[in-house]
Amino acid sequence: MFRSAIIRDMPRLELDRSRAVEDYARAIHDLEAVGADAAVGTNALAARLNVTPASASGMVRRLETLGLVELTPYRGVRLTEEGDRVALSVIRRHRLLETFLAVRLGVPWDRVHAEAEVLEHVLSSELEAAIAKDLGEPERDPHGAPIPRPDGTLPGGETLSLAEMESQRKFVFVRIPDERPDMLRWLAERQIAPGAEMELLSREPFGGPLVVRTESGEHSIGAELAQAMRVEAQ
Ligand SMILES: [Zn+2]
Repeated sequence: MFRSAIIRDMPRLELDRSRAVEDYARAIHDLEAVGADAAVGTNALAARLNVTPASASGMVRRLETLGLVELTPYRGVRLTEEGDRVALSVIRRHRLLETFLAVRLGVPWDRVHAEAEVLEHVLSSELEAAIAKDLGEPERDPHGAPIPRPDGTLPGGETLSLAEMESQRKFVFVRIPDERPDMLRWLAERQIAPGAEMELLSREPFGGPLVVRTESGEHSIGAELAQAMRVEAQ
């Protein structure tokens, strides 16, 4: 059964600590995905979670006692199989909630992330299943991020950053990080959402903007946004 035995059915007093466990597991999962080396350093983890290295070390030791991570001296920490399950479980709840809020309740896509950050930790497995069923078992959230399936596998597909795209090429906009409301609003104002077919017309040198054509017209996309946008070449 896809559920974290540690988190579910936990007394209220334990809830704050279980939130921390889930947040840490997801942060380690995200950092593992970025780095070439699978081990995640405590400093990187602390920076990601906006806590001091000392409190990150303390929490990492707690995760080790719970069997969720393995510590490698001087290198860092990696999720165990159970740790990975906890991370994917909270990612699934987060992305299902974002989709539900956007699709069913019409919450703007730059605001669903903050709401989901809170609700993900208290969503029961029954409600999670009901939301997934109501939405038709979606594979992607409103930002285009894959929603882990109940068995922990991820719907996939290779993407590249728009910044790496060649000029004069057509592509589909697949995904944008959910943590930058300013970028999301900028895109929404121009009717650019995941699934949009686009063409890269030209790029200015020295990290300058990229000019793209979409259904809503031509747009100049700054280097930072182009780096964040994930696309699939056509
Ligand atoms: Zn989010």
